[in-house]
Amino acid sequence: MKVFKFGGASVNTTERIKNVGAIIDKYKDGQLLIVISAMGKTTNALEKVVEAFFNNKKEEALQLFEQVKQQHLSTAKYLLVTHYIACEDRLKSFFTEVEWLLHDKPVREFDYYYDQVVCIGELLSTTIVSFFLNETGIKNKWVDVRDIFRTDDNFRDANVDWEYTQQKVTTEILPLIKSTGIVLTQGFIGSTDENESTTLGREGSDYTADIFANMLDAESQTIWKDVEGVMNADPKLYKEAQLISELNYNEVIEMAYYGAQVIHPKTIKPLENKRIPFYVKCFLDPNLPGTVIKKQALKNLPPIIVFKEKQVMIQMKSKDFSFVGEKPVGQLYHLFEEMNIKPNLTQNGAITFTCVLDDRPDKIEKLALEASAVFDVEVAKGLTMLTIRHYNKEVFEKLTEGKTILLRQQTPDTIQLLLGQ
Ligand code: ASP
Ligand code: MG
Repeated sequence: MKVFKFGGASVNTTERIKNVGAIIDKYKDGQLLIVISAMGKTTNALEKVVEAFFNNKKEEALQLFEQVKQQHLSTAKYLLVTHYIACEDRLKSFFTEVEWLLHDKPVREFDYYYDQVVCIGELLSTTIVSFFLNETGIKNKWVDVRDIFRTDDNFRDANVDWEYTQQKVTTEILPLIKSTGIVLTQGFIGSTDENESTTLGREGSDYTADIFANMLDAESQTIWKDVEGVMNADPKLYKEAQLISELNYNEVIEMAYYGAQVIHPKTIKPLENKRIPFYVKCFLDPNLPGTVIKKQALKNLPPIIVFKEKQVMIQMKSKDFSFVGEKPVGQLYHLFEEMNIKPNLTQNGAITFTCVLDDRPDKIEKLALEASAVFDVEVAKGLTMLTIRHYNKEVFEKLTEGKTILLRQQTPDTIQLLLGQ
């Protein structure tokens, strides 16, 4: 049994949905669990709907939602003939769920509404693709993953209840795959024991697919993307980016930790635990070999380059020039935890504590304000953090030429630099 995950870019046009069909067709005689994301930028569009709703702009929310509706209906209409009416019915029942909510007034927290609205993106896309595959002779069963994935009510970043979910996977999904061959479902979403929808964090579909692979003891998992495989740098930011054809779990966890947009950071563990090989393949050209991530020793990895833009450096100096001791630093970490802030880099000097964070203006302001009770605080914005794993002199010089290095941290494996404009 294999697990496949197709991202939003693989289903963002009718041509691409047909292409996904052509890929699945090659595997249709085997057993497959397929996870598909929301189409293209649907999740972003739905985020706008919730924002408008939460700001009491009901008309705007409904109007923005109308665009999402029309786009899905026209995709379905274009792709389907005999199954169109049945598909439209299903889509409309999801639309109604959201519209009911949009007609209310917000009385609960934003994150709750976010999940109730945003989860619809994956439900719509998988509905369309499932009907399309069935119409073209690729028999599959559509499953609402919210009936399978039980989570807590930490909306927008919900935690999966492994025990409950495993039991559902074993008793419902496994027999379904055995009897029908292909099961098609959503990633990224789940539900609480009170049937409220939840989401697992942006880009969370990979995580869902990994959990399925783990729980189904899959022989492999494949993520189909619009790139050749895992690259050693973002080709948009580094011209000489190259494909890495073999990786292991640890290296990928490190890459994700430093911000490479490879794989959702928490995703790799469920695969590593069961040593399930993980493929990253290109849906635009399925014949390309892609990347395989599995348990193996690696040699000759190229330097792995990660740029993180929009970084903010906060420098905190102790007001009385006393050493920055455990107590104030402890207080700061307490604040980080409270505000759910994960510094990308920290550095401790005699009287200065420096940290680098993603630019989340709401959080930065609050943090700076609270810290200013104990420290003199300085904030610098618009910086770039560069991480190079397996660095060498040549690549270091090339990437830092003409740049101001504001901070530097180095181990034998990894160098991190904070660069000014
Ligand atoms: N649709 C969600 C997102 O765009 C989840 C995913 O695609 O992984 O973040
Ligand atoms: Mg995606």
